[in-house]
Amino acid sequence: MAAKYGFYYKKDGRDDRLFLDQTPVKQIIERLSSPPTPFSLYSFNQFRHNINSYQRALNDLEPIRARLSYSMKANYNPHLLPILKSSKVMLTTVSGGEMQLALSNGFEPSTIIYNGNGKTDDSIEMAINAGVLLNVDSLFDLEIILQYAHQLKKIANVLIRVNPILSDSNVHEYNVTASQTSKFGTNIDELEPIYKLIENEHDKWIRLFGFHCHLGSTISNTQVIVECIEKMVKLFDNKRFPHLRILNIGGGLNIDYKRYANRTATNQDEKYPSIPTIEDYVHAIKEPLKSLPNTIELIVEPGRSLIANSCILITRVLGQKQTGSIRQLVVDASMTECIRPALYQAYHHIDTVNSSTTDERIPYDVVGPVCESGDFLGKQRCLPKTLKRGDFLAIFDIGAYSSSMSSNYNMRPRPAEYTLDEQEQIKVLRRRETNEDLLRTYCVE
Ligand code: PLP
Repeated sequence: MAAKYGFYYKKDGRDDRLFLDQTPVKQIIERLSSPPTPFSLYSFNQFRHNINSYQRALNDLEPIRARLSYSMKANYNPHLLPILKSSKVMLTTVSGGEMQLALSNGFEPSTIIYNGNGKTDDSIEMAINAGVLLNVDSLFDLEIILQYAHQLKKIANVLIRVNPILSDSNVHEYNVTASQTSKFGTNIDELEPIYKLIENEHDKWIRLFGFHCHLGSTISNTQVIVECIEKMVKLFDNKRFPHLRILNIGGGLNIDYKRYANRTATNQDEKYPSIPTIEDYVHAIKEPLKSLPNTIELIVEPGRSLIANSCILITRVLGQKQTGSIRQLVVDASMTECIRPALYQAYHHIDTVNSSTTDERIPYDVVGPVCESGDFLGKQRCLPKTLKRGDFLAIFDIGAYSSSMSSNYNMRPRPAEYTLDEQEQIKVLRRRETNEDLLRTYCVE
């Protein structure tokens, strides 16, 4: 049987044991001997598998040349970068900090995209100086980019961030980025002033290489991406702009947060919604791309679907109590490590590290200790009735928009991050912050 990777449960007699690749998570916890919780665990094998899945599927789009670009905002853990670089994945960055991290890790400037609706002077200067591809978000953004190109006497290489005005109606409004009134990009029917300004300076101080769009995140409806491509391909007018050769369709693919694919026979009668896989997604975009000339290169820039399922958060139970009709399970992880439930009522699967299949389960609200009513991790989750202080739980799929969105609210240190190396030894990726770390930047007499 092929070696398993990622996070999965395996039955051992009456026990359901959680594994990271080939190693039981319980064993990792024992080896860490009384580790401060919460902490996170990465499976780089799962991450590599996700990269390979995209690249294999994108290869099938031949004769269209398609490239994968990792959206670094999902998780900027620098340990991910050598893996991406060795697989020739590009990087999409959204700040000067991310761009600098990409450059200092040896990514070729031509493989870095800098996107943003509000770019700082420093970051524009850095991008033009290095030769990074900039997304022109708006007319004012273009004016400042041109001002710096003149000043630095360098050509700015750009894509235009287009708002195709399309969205998946099932996506939380905070994750929609292409509504009529979105703050990102320029509406598809209002591009003329941008074209005119680029035309004035084309090949002198600016070069338009193509178009970029991103409909939003957690998209499960691939049809909306198909419609988006149908709109975007019409923008390619090589007579007006001879360098046009890139169509970047952004990221946004959702993942199986509810872990439907891992459900057991006991609940198979439940009707599961279908979450497109990476292969389904790439297959869906094949048809509308056929109307693109072969000279156009496609870029797909996912974040979530590359990294989310490669990481879990381990937390300890602090206790349980009844409040009215609700059984509260208080754990030591919170919105400071995993803000998505508080921010978008997002679902993260929560389960035991080790449990007996015969354990009676009851519904709990799983809440953190942060002094904020919105601090919850899951509502009405069926977990063993016997859970007590010190028991370990795993919060799944926290590789994207968790560590990168974490905070020190309530003066909570950011957690340690670990993985296993090739010899299955524990490797520390990030140490846990100390209270001193949190106070270091204050100027106290
Ligand atoms: N590209 C851009 C411009 C984004 O803003 C984002 C995130 O919202 C992404 C790509 C990645 O999206 P996702 O992580 O949903 O794939």
